[in-house]
Amino acid sequence: MSFYVDVHTHLTHPDFAADLAELMARAKAGGMGAIVVNGLGPQSNREILQLAQSYPLIKAALGIYPIEAVNEILPKDFALRCERFTVKDELQFIEKMALAKQICAVGEVGLDGFHLGPETFALQEDVLSALIDIAKRADLPLIVHSRKREERVLEMLAAQACPKVNLHCYSGKIKSAVQAAEKWSWCFSIPANVNRSQSFQSLCQKLPAECLLTETDAPYLSPVPGTRNEPVNVVGTVQCIAQLRGWDREYAQQKIWENYVRLFDS
Ligand SMILES: [Zn+2]
Repeated sequence: MSFYVDVHTHLTHPDFAADLAELMARAKAGGMGAIVVNGLGPQSNREILQLAQSYPLIKAALGIYPIEAVNEILPKDFALRCERFTVKDELQFIEKMALAKQICAVGEVGLDGFHLGPETFALQEDVLSALIDIAKRADLPLIVHSRKREERVLEMLAAQACPKVNLHCYSGKIKSAVQAAEKWSWCFSIPANVNRSQSFQSLCQKLPAECLLTETDAPYLSPVPGTRNEPVNVVGTVQCIAQLRGWDREYAQQKIWENYVRLFDS
């Protein structure tokens, strides 16, 4: 049996508060087999553990987003949304849940040089390094955000020899992605807006078939500009990947489901 999978979504976002049950019914009816909901900090991490109890399709991933990772040194008037908490305590919580196999992955984690400046890079890297270590010790995949720090992220993952990795919404050099996929078998999840993104189309044509996954990053990155994204939109992504690779839809669905099972469920 194969199903559709969304390995990166944020169903704890307030945009989903009013109609989550309907959204989950659409996902189930659409043939989805797993929705990996990613955490950003203490609040979403705990909400995700609850959601996973309520919906069998939801798999919990707990993480610390790069902005949250440096919350203790950001100015009080920092322009973006940022939860304030003690990072050391949250790392301990994630470690406990990971080692107890209460979660399917560690994520969302990573490095961000788009919203954050170089004065935060050393601390971002310390937190990422600790999270890589947790994922390795728990034998869980790591779901990685990299924005304007793609080369450094790949370098750190390689230096720590992290075996199970999914790069989410990767926008770095395609050559580096293909090299990393070939050398380490790391996966790259293709977002639902691949239908209107030349760089994601090219990424999904050049990666080895075994390294392709699907994601939404919902509510963001919708295939239709100006609308809310949701997990069932991966059905369209699989269709798009099939066209780009010259596969039939069933084969594309099966391949991506197998990749999910190999990385997350073994
Ligand atoms: Zn995300």
